[in-house]
Amino acid sequence: VTQEPRLHCARCDLDHPLPELAWRCARCSGVLDLAGFDPAWPDPSAWAARPATLWRYAEALPVPAGRAARISLGEGMTPLVPAAGHPGVALKVDYLAPTGSFKDRGAVVLVAAAAELGACRMVADSSGNAGAAIAAYAARAGIGCEVFLPAGTSPGKVAQLRAYRAEVREVAGTRQDAADAAALAAEAPGVYYASHVYQPAFLHGTKTYAFELWEQLGGRLPETLLLPVGNGTLVLGAYLGARELAARGLVDRLPRIVAVQAAGCAPLAAAFAAGRDEPEPVTPEPTVAEGIAIARPARGAQILAAVRDTGGAVVTVSDGQVLEARAELGAGGLYVEPTAAACWAAVRSGAVPPVPSPESPAPSGAPSEARGRSHGDVPVHTVLPLCGSGLKSGGY
Ligand SMILES: *Cc1c(COP(=O)(O)O)cnc(C)c1O
Ligand SMILES: [Zn+2]
Repeated sequence: VTQEPRLHCARCDLDHPLPELAWRCARCSGVLDLAGFDPAWPDPSAWAARPATLWRYAEALPVPAGRAARISLGEGMTPLVPAAGHPGVALKVDYLAPTGSFKDRGAVVLVAAAAELGACRMVADSSGNAGAAIAAYAARAGIGCEVFLPAGTSPGKVAQLRAYRAEVREVAGTRQDAADAAALAAEAPGVYYASHVYQPAFLHGTKTYAFELWEQLGGRLPETLLLPVGNGTLVLGAYLGARELAARGLVDRLPRIVAVQAAGCAPLAAAFAAGRDEPEPVTPEPTVAEGIAIARPARGAQILAAVRDTGGAVVTVSDGQVLEARAELGAGGLYVEPTAAACWAAVRSGAVPPVPSPESPAPSGAPSEARGRSHGDVPVHTVLPLCGSGLKSGGY
């Protein structure tokens, strides 16, 4: 067994040596993970002295730091603020990223990896934010970029892509139709498929979400990570980051991951509730949470396994709950797109299952809000991201 970094298919075990343009398993079309990448880290106390970007974790990222520094837009180390009216709940304000969503964490690492491969052209597909993030870093790196979007994507997101000089292809149909069109375009020789879903480099960028929380909470992670889930790039990244912290003895257990879907498109919630290992594709209903409306998540089995490994859950929120949650956030000074209000909707509506507590077991059926309430300072037990800016979605 080689210990060299390589791409590994979790489904059929085939290894693909790096560097590699392939974006899915050559034998079974399964998703690939980065394996054999286990770098030495500095003592984490060294992080604090470095600039407040995600490149403070350079040793943990699978791209050469020099290359990355040239395409960085200062992403990472977003604020963590207390949630009004919910002691112990904190909001990670990831919409303050350079392109307005958490996708910058993954995109900068993905584009650095593509540049390392010598790619001079890439294609991506997105409901908006991933495409914007990839297009911005591609522009910064001088790599041509074509982005496939489902027709009807928020005009603000399309405008942003055009600003970055990406070639925009609007595809009639669903988010899946856009993904299929991109995958087809990526068959052309020499084209890099900059898929935030398939390329594992993206997840090594989003894992910095967990590293930052660990630093911001004074060297620990919260009991509960509440995360939106469509394709699972933040769920899987946060899980990866938490596991890397655990492997180095920096946390003694993984936070439970409670993932949130929109009720109109919830294949992972359905599979979780049914105890299945793989999601079954669903026919999506329109939802205001366009960023998580993924009918057929390619990493679905991995997402379900990650959530279960942490003792977490997959829950749903309705469009009405999402819009109420967004209105409440806005009224408190936080301007997000509807998708980015889904986790807050889960908190407000009591959809987050209570943490089983050995000292004072919560009576079954108790509203989750009752938990963790006390006077004075409550340590942060739950963190959720505000992961997409309201500036590009409009609609208030
Ligand atoms: C991409 C995105 C999500 C969902 O991320 P997945 O990787 O699809 O799970 C949630 N919210 C916002 C604002 C996004 O841009
Ligand atoms: Zn395979």
